[in-house]
Amino acid sequence: MEVKVNDECSACGICEDICPEVFELGDEKAEVKVSPVPADLEDKVREAAEECPSEAIEITE
Ligand code: SF4
Repeated sequence: MEVKVNDECSACGICEDICPEVFELGDEKAEVKVSPVPADLEDKVREAAEECPSEAIEITE
């Protein structure tokens, strides 16, 4: 699984709350720390994408 955060991100921090192993809040948007995503974190990344209010998390399986 590959993941990236697009420019729709509003830097709300929800993704970092759900999966801090992968997402880190930067100055203006969330950053992806690790992609491809380790297999044991994929479910949390999917959850973060579902919860993102801006639909800014793009997953490629
Ligand atoms: S949940 Fe979405 S809008 Fe919020 S910081 Fe993460 S990517 Fe950005």
